Amino acid sequence: MTAPVLGVDVGAVVANWRSLAASHGGETAAVVKADAYGLGAALIAPALARAGCRRFFVATADEAMALRDVAGAAWIAVLNGCPAGCEGDFIDRALVPVLNSLADCARWQEAARAAGQALPALLHVDTGMSRLGLDAGEWAAVLRDRSCLDGIALQFVMSHLASAEVAGAPETAAQVARFAAVAAALPGVATSLANSSGMFLREAARSDLARPGVALYGGNPVPGQPNPMRAVVTLAAPVLQIRVIGPGETVGYNGTWRAARRSRIATIGVGYADGLARTLSNRLTARHEGRPVPLVGRISMDLSTFDVTDLPEIVPGSMLELIGPGHAVDDVAAEAGTIAYEILTSLGRRYRRVAKSV
Ligand SMILES: *Cc1c(COP(=O)(O)O)cnc(C)c1O
Repeated sequence: MTAPVLGVDVGAVVANWRSLAASHGGETAAVVKADAYGLGAALIAPALARAGCRRFFVATADEAMALRDVAGAAWIAVLNGCPAGCEGDFIDRALVPVLNSLADCARWQEAARAAGQALPALLHVDTGMSRLGLDAGEWAAVLRDRSCLDGIALQFVMSHLASAEVAGAPETAAQVARFAAVAAALPGVATSLANSSGMFLREAARSDLARPGVALYGGNPVPGQPNPMRAVVTLAAPVLQIRVIGPGETVGYNGTWRAARRSRIATIGVGYADGLARTLSNRLTARHEGRPVPLVGRISMDLSTFDVTDLPEIVPGSMLELIGPGHAVDDVAAEAGTIAYEILTSLGRRYRRVAKSV
């Protein structure tokens, strides 16, 4: 019997990157943090590099080290910065840290002094996320005395939008205005602002380097509008067993689903340990050859159950599609009460990741 299969359409990722890059005035990077949003950075980054993507963003130093092994000479930036003590690793592997504070600047400056050369970096200025980046006080300190950047070869000044997916959000306009002022104070330094949704704000959030992530992987960057991106992920699992239960019998932990009639229940080997969020219990609708198959009962760690009473053609070994055409990752996210990002990055480690076309 086959195992659950996570299909990743690498060609669609490349097509999504190309369409984003074509719509953007400046350069377009690819954000491949969290193992390319759970889909496999080793699969995806080399394909994007072959398609002409020269710049990649990851979150952590470990991700950057792993990416360096598969991404050749690509430019790799590390959003969470260079951990103290890792400066030598960053220099050896040509990893570019995002400097998120004056303390980060001081440490990178010190590394540059020790290395006897100016070291490349991005400077992140917080314009409204209150998460990472120089806060207003630190930015004011830079404006007063720029020597804190001496010895640092600033490649980009960047910021991150908090509500880019919300059409007409006033906080986005405020962030864009703050970022324009920051950029104006650093003439000659290139800028980086938009994430996936930010790219769809077009002129309003244009910068020299866009940083799309989720849209590459088929997530909808314009919620509420038709998804302009190509689907990337299919997730299907074979039925392990079918049983027939009588009216009044229940399914799964705590009996949260009770049969109103004689029912056929199909069990698959995918559970919350595989990223099938427990909040999808009694909510997810899978597909079998395009027909809806409702998940019934609680999702267990390694198993979940479906009512296939009206689908007699489903037998052990039949494949149930959890994510796929007609049931996109955003649909699953809506059923789970979360966002596509979380569904993608929760996809478990137990699946075979297979490069294939959707
Ligand atoms: C994750 C991230 C991105 C990519 O965001 P998407 O919404 O997935 O396109 C861009 N910039 C920063 C700073 C991020 O943390």
